Amino acid sequence: MAKKGLFYKTKAEVELIRESSLLVGKALAEVAKVIKPGVTTLSLDKVAYEFIQDNNAVPAFLNYNGFPNSLCISVNEAVVHGIPGKYELKDGDIVSVDCGVVKNKFFGDSAYTFAIGEVKPEVLHLLKITKDSLYKGIEMSIVGKRVGDVANAVQTLAEAYGYGVVRELVGHGIGQSLHEEPEVPNYGKRGSGLVLLEGLVIAIEPMINMGTKAVSHESDGWTIVTKDRLPSAHFEHTVAIGKEKADILSSFEYIEEALKRNKEMV
Ligand code: MG
Ligand code: MG
Repeated sequence: MAKKGLFYKTKAEVELIRESSLLVGKALAEVAKVIKPGVTTLSLDKVAYEFIQDNNAVPAFLNYNGFPNSLCISVNEAVVHGIPGKYELKDGDIVSVDCGVVKNKFFGDSAYTFAIGEVKPEVLHLLKITKDSLYKGIEMSIVGKRVGDVANAVQTLAEAYGYGVVRELVGHGIGQSLHEEPEVPNYGKRGSGLVLLEGLVIAIEPMINMGTKAVSHESDGWTIVTKDRLPSAHFEHTVAIGKEKADILSSFEYIEEALKRNKEMV
């Protein structure tokens, strides 16, 4: 997808991106409240759509290049860009839910992979390492580091466990457009690429496969799946480059709080 230019944000603009990104975290928490075996992915989409509307924002993915829904929901071997539909979640599934909103002209973007019921330990491990790799990338999101340092940090952790790092899809700058420069790959060389400076806001989104890194397109024109059909995980935060520490503008706290309560009810 064509990326718009490279834009450095003012502090006030970063706060607007934070507002949008936190709203994404809360929308994903609404999904977390109801996600369980037997629910359809389309019903999750409806929950997020209504929540975003109720909060005076617009779902960023809806109609984006013709995408038909508010969430990308990608189950098991689906990596990203899954279309919500009639599929009923079942025990043992993993489900990447990716959400974006635009509010006050600024976008927020975040994704979380949920475990449904009893998931195999080796698949839970993939989820853990994918999330950890995101935070490794975030640790590198400071002034003076380069895009390649972020990318390499993600790749190094994931590959240490023999996982496949998807090449075809990457993170991105974010602001008044959903996808801005720079591209933020999940693989690369340390010390390469754009130098990170204050005002830059990026979405880091490792897509990590249990097996091969190779992916293919499903016939629906959207869904990306692993070539070997083994599971894939995806976590994403919107992050502002900081002087000593990255500023994570999105949040998993609402999601993880909701998941705790959801599990207590089972
Ligand atoms: Mg996303
Ligand atoms: Mg993104």
